[in-house]
Amino acid sequence: MGAKSGKEFLRRLDSTPREIWYGDERITGNVSSHRAFAGIAASMARLYDMQHGDGSEAMTYVSPSSGDRVGLSFLQPKTPGELAKRRGMMKAWADVSGGMLGRTPDYLNSSLMAMAAGAEFFGKEGHDYAGNVRRYYEYVRENDLLLTHTLINPQVNRAVGPSKQADPFIAARVLEKNDEGVVIRGARMLATLPFADEIMVFPSTVVRSGQDDMPYSIGFAVPVSTKGLKFICRESFAGEPAPDHPLSSMFDEQDAVVVFDDVLVPWDRVFILEDPERANRSSEATDAIVFMAQQATVREAAKAEFVAGLATVVAETIGADQFPHVQEKIADLLLTAETMKAFLDAADARARPNRWGLLTPDYVPINSARNLWPRVAPSFSVIIKQIGASGLMAIPPEDVMRSAVRKDVDKYYQSKLSEAEERIRIFKLAWDVAGSSFGGRQDLYERFFFGDPVRMASAYYSWYNKEPYKERVKALLRSRDGN
Ligand SMILES: Cc1cc2nc3c(=O)[nH]c(=O)nc-3n(C[C@H](O)[C@H](O)[C@H](O)COP(=O)(O)OP(=O)(O)OC[C@H]3O[C@@H](n4cnc5c(N)ncnc54)[C@H](O)[C@@H]3O)c2cc1C
Repeated sequence: MGAKSGKEFLRRLDSTPREIWYGDERITGNVSSHRAFAGIAASMARLYDMQHGDGSEAMTYVSPSSGDRVGLSFLQPKTPGELAKRRGMMKAWADVSGGMLGRTPDYLNSSLMAMAAGAEFFGKEGHDYAGNVRRYYEYVRENDLLLTHTLINPQVNRAVGPSKQADPFIAARVLEKNDEGVVIRGARMLATLPFADEIMVFPSTVVRSGQDDMPYSIGFAVPVSTKGLKFICRESFAGEPAPDHPLSSMFDEQDAVVVFDDVLVPWDRVFILEDPERANRSSEATDAIVFMAQQATVREAAKAEFVAGLATVVAETIGADQFPHVQEKIADLLLTAETMKAFLDAADARARPNRWGLLTPDYVPINSARNLWPRVAPSFSVIIKQIGASGLMAIPPEDVMRSAVRKDVDKYYQSKLSEAEERIRIFKLAWDVAGSSFGGRQDLYERFFFGDPVRMASAYYSWYNKEPYKERVKALLRSRDGN
């Protein structure tokens, strides 16, 4: 099988039975032609097509088990050259959407790849969880499956943990264990890409579990076609017609709450079972978090570059690029892009083999990128709005160009650098980044996709080795005392 093509992806998408709810509609027919999914399905197909033809060398490698070419995000890197190849592949996929697609397949493939290398961590008590992770990785790799995942319990009452909610089965948990596997009841929030092939359910990388949380401390993966599994989607932000909504029409990934209505997880798909200790450490102990965060940083650099390019085009189009404060704002975007790339370079330069043999980027710059991003990314939409101003509302539907007011549009919508039609297209793109429902979701995504930034910062504070800096302060005080 190996790396799939866009056509193969779409065929699998439309032939897999699943329970996706869009309002009162259960999507039963071809998912790829539903208005909420058509654009993103076509974009995802485009990504998979890049693995073939001229792109094959840059996007795939030879599978150690089958000899087929498989996606590079599955590669378990051992050399700097392999790390560089992985990064090149991630950047190529990120650039397709200007970094707007948060969940290109390499995000979760990278996580699974690292977990499989560190599979020993999952243990063998009772069941061969370690073997399950290894075999699952190989299965996903060889079949090039698209994964979604869900880590967080429903937002019902954050003042207490999952076991103290009004109903102990609000958060997904173990209902029972039987000969076939583990039965899960409850829900998780949120899963981006509800049209994936498989869903991985793992513990949060931020929220910690205690002994009370035993039945909630689980890790597993099942096909989306599993009986009892339901995805309840949000309203689609995919705008129509496409020319009026240049980004949302192609890149609305969709997000869903996932309901487990007594879902049977077969034993060979269970990775963590009623084990808060392993649940709390799985992503750190296997370095899955490093490889996921590295992928995210590559995408973030791509997005910062794209938004810097867009802000420059908007400013130049209306002759605002000469104003120092506009230049300063675009400089901020360029600084963000360069900072994210510098983090990546530093992490690669200081990469070391981890205890499982993976050449692993240094987590200090990667974790710093992970914590800086939710602080800087929200400024993107602010900057685009400050530069575009009312021009962001001078975006009539594209068929205005075929209307009786075409002459007025040609005259009054022209800009310093472009004809009316081109200027409107540029500003529609800017609005989709900064102000549309799609843009709003992008802003929220960047703030939260890797966890609550407040608790992440707290964890960063505790984790960062501040001792050498403290020591320097003390040394300076000592030297003054000595004077
Ligand atoms: C667009 C989008 C897509 C996403 N896609 C996915 C996905 O595919 N898979 C996935 O698993 N997750 C996904 N997420 C969810 C993401 O993991 C969470 O948003 C993130 O972990 C924060 O959790 P929460 O949203 O439940 O916020 P909450 O935990 O409900 O936080 C709400 C507020 O309360 C505060 N708060 C809550 N508890 C505490 C506490 N103990 N201490 C201090 N402050 C607290 C927070 O700081 C925040 O201000 C997505 C999120 C978004 C926005």
